[in-house]
Amino acid sequence: MTKRLNELVARAEMLNQDYTLPEVRRWKATTGGLAIGYMPVYVPRELLHSQGVLPVGIVGAGADLEIIRGDAYYQSYICHLPRSTIELGLNGSLDCLDGMLFPATCDVIRNLSGMWKMLFPEKLSRYVDVPQNFDPETGGAFFRAELEELCADLTVRGARAFEPDALRKSIETYNENRKLVRSLYEQRLAEPWRLPTHELYLFLRAGLAMPVEEHTAMLGEYLEETTLCTDRVPMDQARVVLTGSFCEQPPIGLIKTLERSGCYIVDDDFIQIHRWIRSDIPSDGDPFDNLVQAFLADSIASPIRYIDEDVKGQELCDRVRHCEAEGVLFCAPSFCDPALLDQPMAVAAVEAAEIPWTSFKFSENSGQFQVIREQAGTFADSIKLWSGR
Ligand code: SF4
Repeated sequence: MTKRLNELVARAEMLNQDYTLPEVRRWKATTGGLAIGYMPVYVPRELLHSQGVLPVGIVGAGADLEIIRGDAYYQSYICHLPRSTIELGLNGSLDCLDGMLFPATCDVIRNLSGMWKMLFPEKLSRYVDVPQNFDPETGGAFFRAELEELCADLTVRGARAFEPDALRKSIETYNENRKLVRSLYEQRLAEPWRLPTHELYLFLRAGLAMPVEEHTAMLGEYLEETTLCTDRVPMDQARVVLTGSFCEQPPIGLIKTLERSGCYIVDDDFIQIHRWIRSDIPSDGDPFDNLVQAFLADSIASPIRYIDEDVKGQELCDRVRHCEAEGVLFCAPSFCDPALLDQPMAVAAVEAAEIPWTSFKFSENSGQFQVIREQAGTFADSIKLWSGR
């Protein structure tokens, strides 16, 4: 590991550990701009950026925060992310944010948007609805109106007014970021020992709470440094696709545990905002239409997206083949309705394709991984010994 790589990883770790958003506070002190938080999975960050607003992804507080008041707002059979988000809001960790966006991910996040409105009436609190009809005349028109309303709401709060050229430029800025994320995923796919997932994950998470330009520079440096790591050599590990962790995020210790138990994670759905739009968004023409069209036609498959007549699990099987993976880890947050409702259908599809799989659940504050280590280790061993892949 090079000295510079060590420094980059240490910085990404520091950014992930401090849920009081130091980079966001620094940015606000320097620019005087608005910072708006958003819950997973997708919000149109390009639009916020074009209006001089810093989008800030909120993914809870992991195991470092004791949840006391957050638990009072939710039943015991609800995932952990909304509890820690409430706790962070009430303990002042998010006070540098001028508002929050709650995308249409699931009912839990919808309910959280209502709670936020009541708890923080002085801040912007907006539910961002996204279409489940992908016809440009219907879902497209709806989504465009939603984006225009969001834009107007931000302007009322002090953001710059909409300007088409600014949005075109912001689209290009995020295209650069997405391109680097794609390069990192391709590099990991080719050499997962050189670019381990527990490291990549840190860099993806760090990007949620810093300006996109700085994140892009950080990713570029990280990619370059990993190519210099000659001390990282391949081991006889099982190549797996990990799925189910698209909203609440697993603790870093869980990812390290999976890798140490003998799995190379060659594809995943962590921090999906960085890859929600699969390719470059055109920056010429009407930039609003381009954002809308990218969402309609170029979003990744997800349990939170309607797929009409398509077969659930087919896209997962295709990914396994593309990655030359040997198995699937279903790794969903406890009580995550979208992930766990899809899982039986996805399991049926991978079984039909004779792809080995195993499943377990986590919470962002899980602290004990021994059982998962034994399960994943046995899974990896069984692939290596018996699957003949
Ligand atoms: S983890 Fe699942 S259930 Fe919880 S907020 Fe996210 S999508 Fe909804």
